Amino acid sequence: MGKTAKLLDFVDFGDICRGCKVNCCRRFYAVLLDEEEKEFDGVASTLKTPLGRVKTLGDPNGKVCPFLSGEGFCKVYKDRPFDCRLWPIMVHYDFETDEYVIVLDLECPAAAEGRIPEDLIKRMIGTVKKAKLDKNWVKKYTLTPWPKKLVELERIKSPKDNNSM
Ligand code: SF4
Repeated sequence: MGKTAKLLDFVDFGDICRGCKVNCCRRFYAVLLDEEEKEFDGVASTLKTPLGRVKTLGDPNGKVCPFLSGEGFCKVYKDRPFDCRLWPIMVHYDFETDEYVIVLDLECPAAAEGRIPEDLIKRMIGTVKKAKLDKNWVKKYTLTPWPKKLVELERIKSPKDNNSM
């Protein structure tokens, strides 16, 4: 597991997701951080963005993550990547203001219905703020195709260079 994903080790949506009919892992895809690419070499797909490629588990054209079991469970749950741990929270880049925007994706029924505890959301946001996310990665992540049911939670200053937040 990458060191950035490990920061979100406390996130466990088991109870929140129980009984959910959507199965986000079947509908969507996960974007790997640069530091996670080696770990998933050989199983990840390549997705082009206007700023360069990213590696993904599953893809926006309907390819399902190779770690999703037939019963709809994650076969690598304890070692799942950063994006899988963070969603339905996401970090996007505002190309006009040069800020990072932390958003909540209402495609997740639990997020839309307000079933994610507020203190968990706060802790996840706090962790994201401490994570040293690469600015180029956040820009590319923002440009990957995704449904647009996003609500803004918080804005933070982006780093000056490309290496820290
Ligand atoms: S790695 Fe696990 S949590 Fe992430 S998309 Fe695949 S099945 Fe879902």
